[in-house]
Parts: sequence; C-alpha cells; structure tokens
Amino acid sequence: MPATLTPCVPEQLVLDGVVFSVRPSSKRRTVGITVDRDGSLLLHVPDGLAWERVEVWARSKRHWVRDKLADKDLLLSRQSTREFVSGEGFDYLGRRYRLKVTDEIEGVHFNGGRIRMHPKLAYGPDPAGAMAAWYRERARRWLPGRLRPWQARMALHPAGVHVRGLGHRWGSLGAGGRLNLHWAVMQLPPTVVDYVLVHELAHLAVRDHSPAFWELVRTAVPDYGHRRERLALLGGQVWLG
Ligand SMILES: [Zn+2]
Repeated sequence: MPATLTPCVPEQLVLDGVVFSVRPSSKRRTVGITVDRDGSLLLHVPDGLAWERVEVWARSKRHWVRDKLADKDLLLSRQSTREFVSGEGFDYLGRRYRLKVTDEIEGVHFNGGRIRMHPKLAYGPDPAGAMAAWYRERARRWLPGRLRPWQARMALHPAGVHVRGLGHRWGSLGAGGRLNLHWAVMQLPPTVVDYVLVHELAHLAVRDHSPAFWELVRTAVPDYGHRRERLALLGGQVWLG
C-alpha cells in the first residue's frame, strides 16, 4: 500500500460560486455532502484522500446538490456581498440596476432606472438593513397582486401573506395557512417568482414534496422544471442582506 501524504485540505471549496465548508474526518471512508439546517453545505472528506479527487467528485455532484436544496426549499448558499457605493449592482425583478448614492432623495428610492440611496443610509451603520427594508416594502406592494391570479387558478388561498427575512428559505407556510415569503424573491425574474408562489400555494394542499405535490405544481406551471432550475441557479446569486 503506498504511503499517503496528509494532503493540504482547504477550509472551503467554492464551485461556481457555491460554497462548501470542508470537514476533514478521520472516521469517514468516502467523501460526502450534507446540507446543514441553515442551508449551508458541508463537504466531508476522509483523511488522506487526495484533494484533487475530492474536487473532481464534488464538481460531479453540483446538479445533485442543486436538486437537494430545491427539495428542501432552500436557497443555495453562496457568498454574495454588496458595497454601498455608487455603481454597485442590485437586482430587482430579474434586472440589474446601479446604485447611486445621492442626497437628491430621502431614504431609498427607485425610479425605474437607478436605485438611489441617501448617503446618511449608505455610509451609516446599517446600509444593508436599509436596502433590505426597501426590498421588503417593494415585495409587500408587488407580491399580493402577483399572487392573486395563481390563487384563483389553483383555488388555493393562504390566510395571509407575510414578507420577511426567512434565512435560507424562499417561502414557508406559517400557522393557520399563512404564507411567508422572503423579501429576496424580489431580485428574481417575475416568471421565477411565479414558480416560488405556485410552489408555496401548492403546499397549502400538499405539505410534502410527494408526487401529488409536483403534479399540482405541474398543473399550474407546466414548465415548472425549467423554472425550478433557474431558481436554483439564480438563487446562488441573490443578495440576502
Ligand atoms: Zn416545498
């Protein structure tokens, strides 16, 4: 048996912007990926395995990982940070807009061309919080109207719609059939937002991801597979505050 050198294992592996936390293990004999409760990805690596092989293996699992996270209704964890300076890009309903830091306006303002933010906020203690609040406000105004035709078509009606930060989830059903939606959905293209809405509405009828659930989703959105794939891809790029 050839002597194995202890390979230099990095703390993180980033593939296409998807971040895996590397966990070396003396107990494991095979490489494995698990999804943590918060949606972060753990890559378990047995001691002594050549790092190049680990990387090749993880690369081959990328689609599986996306499906796995989508099954859990989780966002792909990816490091996505923004700076609050003029020229920075923020996504809104599938389009990228430049930020302008300017005292021409109060608070955060969107005129269809640029997102503008007052320097007091941009250079203040919590610019990310101010921007997240802006997305939330937009979501509260836009999502109910977007949801209405789907409710009618699927004959499923949530007890209410609540927009908030949901960590690594796009949406969830609260007590009494209340629909919670992450404000971050406002960064996605409208057709992908529709998929999120249909998915969550379908959970009013079927709680799990059984074939009956997917059949319900398919009836409302026949091309749901395509949209779901786009959600998994785009989800890795959204900014979560
Ligand atoms: Zn689901």
